Amino acid sequence: MKLLIVEDEIKTGEYIKQGLGEAGFIVDLAHNGLDGHHLAMLEPYDLIILDVMLPDMNGWQILKSLREAEKEMPVLFLTASDSIDDRVKGLELGADDYLVKPFAFAELLARIRTLLRRGVTPATELSLSIADLALDLARHRASRGGRRIHLTTKEFALLELLVRRQGEVLPRSLIASQVWDMNFDSDTNVIDVAIRRLRAKIDDNFDLKLIQTVRGMGYMIDLPESGS
Ligand code: CA
Repeated sequence: MKLLIVEDEIKTGEYIKQGLGEAGFIVDLAHNGLDGHHLAMLEPYDLIILDVMLPDMNGWQILKSLREAEKEMPVLFLTASDSIDDRVKGLELGADDYLVKPFAFAELLARIRTLLRRGVTPATELSLSIADLALDLARHRASRGGRRIHLTTKEFALLELLVRRQGEVLPRSLIASQVWDMNFDSDTNVIDVAIRRLRAKIDDNFDLKLIQTVRGMGYMIDLPESGS
């Protein structure tokens, strides 16, 4: 696996390069935007770690140019700013993930491994939410009111489907095919049992109930007051 780091802070760049080298990656390091852009356009990197504030050509310009040239390798950007605007901008321009400086090397390594496992499929979102329920798609974590909720893989997949299509009634057959990869058998109550378990974790301890049963049709997740 060959990675490119574009980072103008010499010490940070060398530190990341050394760590990734020790983790078994082949790593190129560019110290300014133009060199970084040149290398990224030329070499088939598996992933690029891109600092935002760079001399000559900044991280956003590099990212935009790469995506316009249909270079689809994962890009993880490094930002010194903790502002939402910055993150949104990066993701809108086609970045796959970001880290706010300063960060722990172990965190960087974990993010890189996740992105590489994910392959070339671009991740358009990192999180989903409705009311105080939040899903962290990269880490497969759910929380409500800031409190972590432990879900099984299937429960997370079910919740992700509901939140992704919030406000839309999802028939059991659709849920079965999307979450269980099976054709719906009307005798099974797999979906109903799964919804009940999910409710126990997501809704039971909260006044605002998010998962709704639409009789004869299926299930949906929505804010109660926005329903009909
Ligand atoms: Ca910088």
